[in-house]
Amino acid sequence: MPVFSRFKTGDTNPESGLFLCVGCGEIIPLSKGERFPPCVDCGSTTWMMVALAGEAGRRFKTGTKSPMSGLFICTKCWSQIIPIARDDVFPPCASCRRGTDWQLIVSA
Ligand SMILES: [Zn+2]
Ligand SMILES: [Zn+2]
Repeated sequence: MPVFSRFKTGDTNPESGLFLCVGCGEIIPLSKGERFPPCVDCGSTTWMMVALAGEAGRRFKTGTKSPMSGLFICTKCWSQIIPIARDDVFPPCASCRRGTDWQLIVSA
């Protein structure tokens, strides 16, 4: 599945990754097998893949050092996405305000 493929709301996602709303630029993570939602910001129904999940699914706890750099999503609220560099310590989630497991969505 090449990056920059386009998908419509209601399509089943063939590949975990990050998707950009072509209407407003909102970026959402979506796992394989999930259906594309309408954009909550602008209502657009077209999404473009902007990044493939690397070793998606690997999880790291708040307070541990990251062995890799990439984008990570909070597995408690599934809305907070943070960039982490190699050897950075995973912070608490700014949305949940507590420790969490961060799941890798894109390795950099
Ligand atoms: Zn949008
Ligand atoms: Zn959170």
